[in-house]
Amino acid sequence: MGRKNHRNAPASKEGARSPRARADVHKNAENHRIRNALLLIAAIVGPAALGVMFKGSNDGTFDNTMNPAITATTSDGSTSQPSASGPDLPPDFDEAKLDILIAQIENAISAFKAQLNFDKIKHPKMKPGIINLFDLVERNAKNDLKNYGKYKRAEASNKDLSATRVTTRPYDFSYLVDDSTLDSLKFVAAYSHFPRHMILSSDFNPNSPMDLLAMLHEATHLGTDADFVLDTRDNPETLRAYLYFYTHKPGEKKKCDVVDEAKAWAVQTELLNVFLDGDLEKLANSMSVRQIMDRGESHRYEDILKKLKIDNEEEIYSFMGLLLSAKYYFAGPNRVNEYIDIIAYIHEKLGARLFVMDKNKRFVSYKRKPVVGLE
Ligand SMILES: [Zn+2]
Repeated sequence: MGRKNHRNAPASKEGARSPRARADVHKNAENHRIRNALLLIAAIVGPAALGVMFKGSNDGTFDNTMNPAITATTSDGSTSQPSASGPDLPPDFDEAKLDILIAQIENAISAFKAQLNFDKIKHPKMKPGIINLFDLVERNAKNDLKNYGKYKRAEASNKDLSATRVTTRPYDFSYLVDDSTLDSLKFVAAYSHFPRHMILSSDFNPNSPMDLLAMLHEATHLGTDADFVLDTRDNPETLRAYLYFYTHKPGEKKKCDVVDEAKAWAVQTELLNVFLDGDLEKLANSMSVRQIMDRGESHRYEDILKKLKIDNEEEIYSFMGLLLSAKYYFAGPNRVNEYIDIIAYIHEKLGARLFVMDKNKRFVSYKRKPVVGLE
């Protein structure tokens, strides 16, 4: 499952984690690629909208079912490092092709960063964390296990991956193209918590700003994850509880850290607004929640869709998810709770159970308020 936020990112008020949803929702949608923002909208609008797919933006929390990454705590109280294992190689996995994709992504992220004026970020507290996400991806370029195929070989040769990944270079991650995982989620990207794999769909497009934003959403979770592991190195029980939280048993409902999700959504929302030179906020302010949900009046954003290279229904829905987020996110500091609750609402509709971390770093259930105008 992916989730997490960045410790260097915004204060928790603005941060949040977005849900990862699993999308059982769409059995009837095999031919569509739903990406999650859209999912959200569909979930919100109701079953009638499910026939339409989104090319969503974000994330799915990857389901660790295949390889629960639970750390064992030894009897003397020390903890072993978290397991670095991940799913086996997916069918059709092509390591050479993935190398090419990774290079394209790294170039695209650097180009995207150069193109954005981070001074235009609306909530200044978000800025350092957002810049960190780009740095995280850039630093990972030096990770010699960034290709999942190489990572798996290293794992098979008993290399001490836990030391490499968790201690020495805590923010390293590997990329993996795996439609077999994402098809069930219908997302363009997902994050596997513990071993820190960035899972992409085979049609992930490094030239699409929306896809890059989806990846940065996942990177937000990754940053949170790495931060947490570092923070709790001397606290094995807390780390174990955390890992357990992100382990998903078959048939179990997804769990969602609402704050980490809100943060990841905030990252996407801010960046999209910067990319659009403020037009996301303007548009959100000009539409009611109901208008956004009804997907109405798309003529209002034709130019925007063009700029985002959005040319299909799925991606339009994805954009709408971010428009909805923007509607609340830009509403001002006195409405932070409403923003978090709309993210919580979306994830809840996607089938997740809602949690937040308490001051002892343990997850506790989160109860959101009803969304005004929708419930
Ligand atoms: Zn998320």
